[in-house]
Amino acid sequence: MVSKSNAGLEIFDGLEIRGTKRWKKEPPDVCPYCSKEDCISGVEVIAAYDGALFWECDECGEKLLRFTKETTAKYLAKTDGLYIDLERMKYICQEPPN
Ligand SMILES: [Zn+2]
Repeated sequence: MVSKSNAGLEIFDGLEIRGTKRWKKEPPDVCPYCSKEDCISGVEVIAAYDGALFWECDECGEKLLRFTKETTAKYLAKTDGLYIDLERMKYICQEPPN
């Protein structure tokens, strides 16, 4: 049987967040990966956390941590049993901003 925390870590790994630096309240003004300004927005995961669970750059698509890996995985584990369409999330993120 898969434990809750393992399920959360599996989902976390699927997000492919590269960095370990955290921005707790506000995302960085400048993306540390592509150096564009004002392009980072919060990503909410329904049932995981009420608010932005992590940040994502609209320019390069890199994701940034808001919480530690352990904490993020813990929140993601709350979605265990719910269907999370990561492929569709990617598709949505690839759409150009309005
Ligand atoms: Zn970027």
